[in-house]
Amino acid sequence: MTYLYNDPVKFVEELVEGYAAAHRDKILQVEGGVIRRHKAKPGQVVLVIGGGSGHYPAFGGFVGQGLAHGAAMGNVFASPSAQQICNVALAVEAGGGVLFCYGNYAGDVLNFNQAQERLRAEGVDVRSVVVTDDIASAPMHEQHKRRGIAGTLPVFKAAAVAADSGKILDEVFHIAQQANQQVRTLGVAFSGCTLPGAKQPLFEVADGKMEVGMGIHGESGLQQMTTPTADQLAEILVNRLLSEMPSTIANPDGARIGVILNSLGAVKQEELFVVYRKVNHLLSGRGLIIIEPVVGEFITSFDMAGVSLTLFWMNAALEQSWVAAADAPGFHRGHVALPDGDQMDATESITKRQTAIGSVDSQAAAAVVLAALEAALDEISAQKDELGRLDAVAGDGDHGIGMHRGLTAAVAAAKEMLAASSGAGTLLTSAGDAWSGQAGGTSGALWGVILRSLGQALGDEARPDTATVVAGVTTAVREVQRLGKAQLGDKTLVDVLHPFSEALANGASHGFSIPDAWTAAAEATSKAAQATQNLLPKIGRARPHAEKSIGTPDPGAVSMALIISSVGQVVRERCS
Ligand code: ADP
Ligand code: MG
Repeated sequence: MTYLYNDPVKFVEELVEGYAAAHRDKILQVEGGVIRRHKAKPGQVVLVIGGGSGHYPAFGGFVGQGLAHGAAMGNVFASPSAQQICNVALAVEAGGGVLFCYGNYAGDVLNFNQAQERLRAEGVDVRSVVVTDDIASAPMHEQHKRRGIAGTLPVFKAAAVAADSGKILDEVFHIAQQANQQVRTLGVAFSGCTLPGAKQPLFEVADGKMEVGMGIHGESGLQQMTTPTADQLAEILVNRLLSEMPSTIANPDGARIGVILNSLGAVKQEELFVVYRKVNHLLSGRGLIIIEPVVGEFITSFDMAGVSLTLFWMNAALEQSWVAAADAPGFHRGHVALPDGDQMDATESITKRQTAIGSVDSQAAAAVVLAALEAALDEISAQKDELGRLDAVAGDGDHGIGMHRGLTAAVAAAKEMLAASSGAGTLLTSAGDAWSGQAGGTSGALWGVILRSLGQALGDEARPDTATVVAGVTTAVREVQRLGKAQLGDKTLVDVLHPFSEALANGASHGFSIPDAWTAAAEATSKAAQATQNLLPKIGRARPHAEKSIGTPDPGAVSMALIISSVGQVVRERCS
């Protein structure tokens, strides 16, 4: 369990503040995460990493000389939002472009991709490398589906060394990609973990058992077995990893590898050494040459008891990056010369959001949008537990909490924007950013996309008419599908949003007013949500447990229908 916290909701905010204070010689807190204390060289590429909190030293701990230039730090086990990632990237950007590098999780991919698009639109060159080292999470021929775990570290190092040596973005990108091709990790777990303030563990492993291949958020593994001895565990990990050597390695005899033995939280450093002793014998016995091994905590999962072993198969260039000196709070190697660059100043690095003053018409529309968000929040508050229950059937049970947290933040941001006289467009965009920043989870990122799409359609000038609302909802569906890749019938919120959007457009084409078109289109949404109970999930967290969810509607589809109908009531009252 997590023993020490204040308000669990503020856990991450407070840990980031304390972390930055404890390491103020090396890092600086900015909106959305932390950055290196010293500025990058003008014109160079910078490396921006990120992910959920709860995995320290991943990811904020890997910011410093020889490692990342900045890290976006999300909520507990939740991706940072696109806005957070953009803030961190803009704080460190030095003119040579940005490489995003992060572990492969749906929420992170969604948010980093959005951030990449936004930065490109602002003229910043961005490329992304998604780390896929976890051999338990998909077969080799589906490597792109594999999760990213402790193997992120050597990939970060390869990218950072390339960036700091002055290579251009394309080269840095290729080096990081190559590093990802050469790294393999396998993890095991003996217990689950309990998040700050939670009464129950997030997931559990049966007493005396070990889950081989369990993910860092409790994603199910390859198999369960009786807890082995330290030596037996070393054999299991080494044998499985050696059965997946990269195709570039013809013969392990004489091959040079970097090794990471990682504790997921509760396993003690001394236990790790006992395991490493055997790992060392086994690898050396096969003729492998181990270069600068590291044993300790590199990517954790709160108090989860577990271990992972990473093998990094290096060529000469990758080896140079692996042994290079680094000085980050969570990873130290060798001696790093003090950089001669300027220190960052906290005020210059924090990007301020500008509030656009809306026209009178648009401010009036903004007030309706706020009322609609408040109605949605009331409805979701009332259904929070039920949404959590639906999500627990095949997902992770956080849908009610996540939606509630996201909407609460959206309402607060909307109030602030309305008080600052912003128009409906800016209000929706800010509310969307706040939602995805606080909610965590895939649905939070997608709701951020929905509000942002609506905001872009509504703008801050015109009085919204039916055509604008239709355009906003149509864009929202298109963007959700483009970024989230769900098709109709995949058992997601798209199964409600898509038909709603078509019905709304149909009403508009018949000359209906906004309230009439909305009401007519909303009628079928509850049925559409219920109908998802017959579908098999093809995407998202529920996919691996697809069959369990038959008979239960998709939680995201249900909350979508609830929100559409509560917004409809506000629109009818305020716009008729
Ligand atoms: P998470 O799955 O990250 O825990 P939530 O529990 O908040 O996030 O939301 C789950 C819901 O998100 C699902 O019920 C589904 O409706 C929706 N969802 C997940 N992935 C996608 C996707 N790729 N496209 C559209 N909707 C998705
Ligand atoms: Mg969930």
